[in-house]
Amino acid sequence: MPYKGEFAGYQPLRRITESERVKNLLRRSKVYHSSSASATSIPVVAPDSLNQLPIFILAIDGSRAEVDVKIGYPGAKIGYCTVACVLIDLALIDQLDKQRAVEPKKFRETEKASAIDAAFPGSNVVTRRQTSARASFREELYDHFHDVIIDEEEKLPLIDTYEAMLELKPQHQDQRCPYFETDGCEQHLNIPSGTGECPGCKRPVYSTDALRIHERFNDLGSNDEAFGYVMQVWERLLLVHLLRAFEKRGMLDQMSKLAFFLDGPLAIFGPPAWLSAAISTELKRINSIVQIKTSTDLVILGVEKSGAFFTHFEEIDQMDDSGQPGFAPRTYSLIMDEYIKEVIQQTSSKKRYGQDTYFGRKFFYKTQSGARIVASIPFLTNEQDTLDSDDISLYPQFGTTCALLDRLVSSRFPNALMPLVSAHAHAAIPLHLGKKVLKQLAQALMREESD
Ligand SMILES: [Zn+2]
Repeated sequence: MPYKGEFAGYQPLRRITESERVKNLLRRSKVYHSSSASATSIPVVAPDSLNQLPIFILAIDGSRAEVDVKIGYPGAKIGYCTVACVLIDLALIDQLDKQRAVEPKKFRETEKASAIDAAFPGSNVVTRRQTSARASFREELYDHFHDVIIDEEEKLPLIDTYEAMLELKPQHQDQRCPYFETDGCEQHLNIPSGTGECPGCKRPVYSTDALRIHERFNDLGSNDEAFGYVMQVWERLLLVHLLRAFEKRGMLDQMSKLAFFLDGPLAIFGPPAWLSAAISTELKRINSIVQIKTSTDLVILGVEKSGAFFTHFEEIDQMDDSGQPGFAPRTYSLIMDEYIKEVIQQTSSKKRYGQDTYFGRKFFYKTQSGARIVASIPFLTNEQDTLDSDDISLYPQFGTTCALLDRLVSSRFPNALMPLVSAHAHAAIPLHLGKKVLKQLAQALMREESD
């Protein structure tokens, strides 16, 4: 029995759920009954890997924080974004597995050293040359894209890859002048590469204004959303950037030794979502070269750790009457458009799920050890670019992807991937971005070859 008054703190919440208005709304809402669904997700045994497993994993993972700063103005905040990039040596993991457990802390230390990081003006922080926090944020964003140099030898700033993606953006005069919110300039314009000028107010515009992240910027209040978009864009652009760097260095013939793991879905949400189509086009182009050189596709995976798909997978994987989980080890389900719309995100829209945001598609996978993985694989050819087929032979690296997942899941962190990678601290080679990262990578790949 609960003590009298124990739930006093929850009183307001109870008032909301018991209110007639809420009850009324729920009475008018559709309720999902799994028994009436026509779309089902039947687990299928994962195909075997057609190729040798990659020997390295390049993992990209970002984080961000918003901190209060004391500069005299009230509510001044700064955003801090980092994107870490780590190369994981699977052969070393094998060796370590035979030895002893490794503390995850060690890994996080090395990860920090290998990250690209940047501080951004947030609420009420105005840089000397600017007149508003928003304009300061825009200028810093453009500068940081220039400052992110992936390789000192090649001198490839992230802005090069970004502007190559901008070239692929369809031109519509649909973007408002970035000074609209603060100064009311009503001009609509196309944002060019480099820096330019608004034809209306004659003030500077930057190529990164096309990301439109500033439209979600708050001059007063939290900017966690805006910083989140920066991080999301950096993580995904870094993948394309590294692939383009490999191409430039003539290293695409080595790609079957490498798999790329990204934190989160293969998608870009919010105002910068147009990048998704550009990234998709670029991945298909690069993959067509990789296919010629290696006779197979790139291995790229985006892993989700939470969200509606994750919750849904948990639900359908419950034990049935006979005590068996929905998914046996090494089974998967490639998620179809119809299934998503009927069971996960209800809509009667004809438009494909994630049409404007995703450059890949999702699947559920139960690893050999029983971990549930929600992940996405990219569309690397036009044939793969569908949610209406569950023909797994469209995706020749799917077996390899599942086999990698089997190897990377740890028993200590159920259903999670990155932490278990981090548990193998000593197998991770921190890539010091901005140093000779491509040389490091080339050496690692070549070393394996001569072994
Ligand atoms: Zn203007």
